[in-house]
Amino acid sequence: MKTQVPHNFVFSQSNLQTYLNCRYKFYLRYIQKLAWPAQTTIDDLRFEEDRNAGIRFHQLLHQYFIGFNPELLIRMAENDPDSRVLVWFQTFLASPYAQLQGKLESEKTITTCVDDKNFIVKYDLLQFKSGQYTIYDWKTSNKVPNRERLIDNIQTRLYPVILSEAYQTDLPIRLIIWEIIAPDAPFIFSFSSQELKRNAQYFKSLCDEIVSLEKTDFFKTANTRQCKICEYRSHCNRGITPATFEDLEESALTDLEDYWNTNRDDANLV
Ligand code: SF4
Repeated sequence: MKTQVPHNFVFSQSNLQTYLNCRYKFYLRYIQKLAWPAQTTIDDLRFEEDRNAGIRFHQLLHQYFIGFNPELLIRMAENDPDSRVLVWFQTFLASPYAQLQGKLESEKTITTCVDDKNFIVKYDLLQFKSGQYTIYDWKTSNKVPNRERLIDNIQTRLYPVILSEAYQTDLPIRLIIWEIIAPDAPFIFSFSSQELKRNAQYFKSLCDEIVSLEKTDFFKTANTRQCKICEYRSHCNRGITPATFEDLEESALTDLEDYWNTNRDDANLV
């Protein structure tokens, strides 16, 4: 049986989350590569402002971790067109994350092959200290996500697995998701080697399933809430009105994170 997925396809948090949200969207975006521009939300200006402020905040943190003078970065934040960026950066400087020790790698990309499938992930920050890896993920969400939803999020499960597979390590791995609007309440997830193996098996089964599907198996989701935030909604006859800002969910933000993290061609099809 001929697979619909190209042999050199690279799985990422974004395309796997897309598949789980809607198989047909995965087919349109990653197999057909159908560009279908659509207004993301009714308030696109605010959406763009939030996204761009988040990108600049990530850049400031990257520059901090690669050794830029913090005074210079504060001046850059002071001159940022969005006043939130300075507040966020000052919050960061006052947090324990500005004092991290050990081996630190900012904006660390890992590409690896697991069971003949290619994967790419990009960590905001990777720390190795005292025999433990910790992955840090900075977020600038408007709303603090629900922990239960984060646990099930593809990013939460995939990031540690790819690290353990690429580095061939059985060491436990932590993932810390730091929401800038709740700086004192980071989400901390710890993964034992058994959990990492279980999650690796989950991704193996998921990717095997994706590459085995026939064209007709990439059906449209029954969850029409996904359609509200999907750029293909007019293509699918699932409405033409853009989502409200409140309709945006973690899945949409995951796509955007992939966009600014990897800047890959397929991610540009957001
Ligand atoms: S509009 Fe709905 S059915 Fe169509 S691709 Fe998007 S999520 Fe899937």
